[in-house]
Amino acid sequence: MKHGDDLTDKRCARCHQPVTLPMVYRDGLWFHTKCFSDGARQLSNATRLAKALEEPASSPHPHAASYM
Ligand SMILES: [Zn+2]
Repeated sequence: MKHGDDLTDKRCARCHQPVTLPMVYRDGLWFHTKCFSDGARQLSNATRLAKALEEPASSPHPHAASYM
């Protein structure tokens, strides 16, 4: 295992470009700080959307009544 300042083989886990400063190390992965914060924001958005989709629709079949 090699430690050092060789960053050339480290790639951002989000955009897959070589990481450059500023960067974040998280869960064994490197991210550009910007990518990391973008990802965190998207993740919280996705979580919120997923929660919204889990809620039952008030009218599951809005045009079912038109067949009457
Ligand atoms: Zn990146």
